[in-house]
Formats: sequence, structure tokens, C-alpha cells
Amino acid sequence: MPIYEFKCGCGLRFERLTPLDAAAPGCPECGGETRKVPSGVGLAGGGRAGTGLAKEQMPQTWRGTYEGNREYVTGLRRQWDRRQKLEAKHPELAGDQRPIIAHEGRYHGAPLRAGDPVLGHGHGHGHGHTTDPTPPAPSD
Ligand SMILES: [Zn+2]
Repeated sequence: MPIYEFKCGCGLRFERLTPLDAAAPGCPECGGETRKVPSGVGLAGGGRAGTGLAKEQMPQTWRGTYEGNREYVTGLRRQWDRRQKLEAKHPELAGDQRPIIAHEGRYHGAPLRAGDPVLGHGHGHGHGHTTDPTPPAPSD
């Protein structure tokens, strides 16, 4: 026996197990005449399902994104932590961490970093050309 939804003129909707050929039952609220709500239209809040479902899906989608994002970030952090530990053990893996003080001209291919000897400069003349940010005027 199928369940049908009935609607009364008073606005009440109710479901009832009803034989296919049975007449619509009277309204349990006011006793008035009811009519069968076409199946698939009003059944069990079918009309509201659209908005109801969307509301339920939105937070799920949002949560899904958030968790995915958090996982992604956590993954990155884990990678970073691993890398940091690895570099702590094997500093040579970290590469040159010194600030680059020159990267033009002859240093284009191999940037000059703080502490590097200045290649091809000829350091025999002792004018104190060091990593000093404000080197003295050339003495030659
Ligand atoms: Zn009624």
C-alpha cells in the first residue's frame, strides 16, 4: 500500500497509507476534504529538498575544502620540517644562504655573496676592499 500525501484546504498536509483507488481521507485537523498531492511534487518536503539540500551541501563542501587545504598546508609544513632537519644534518644541502651582494656583470653566472673573495680583483694592494657595505674610495 503506497503512502500518499494529502493536502487540505486548511493548509494541513499529511501522509497516509492509502489504497490506490481509495478516496482521499478527510482532514485529521478540520475534517474537510483533502486532495492527493501529486507524487514527486510535495512528498516528504520534496519542494523544499532543493534548498534544504543545498544548505546541507554547502558546509560540507566548505569543510571539504578546509580539510583539504589544511592537509595540503600540513603536508607542506611536514616537507619543510623534514627539509630543515635534513639541512641541519647536512648543511651542504641548504645551499648558500649568505646574502647576495652582487649579481651583475662578472657575477651574473655566480653571484657574489657576503664573505666570498672578490675574484679577479687582485687583493695585493690592500685598500681594504672587504664586505664592508661602504667601502673606502679606491686608492689607486
Ligand atoms: Zn483541514
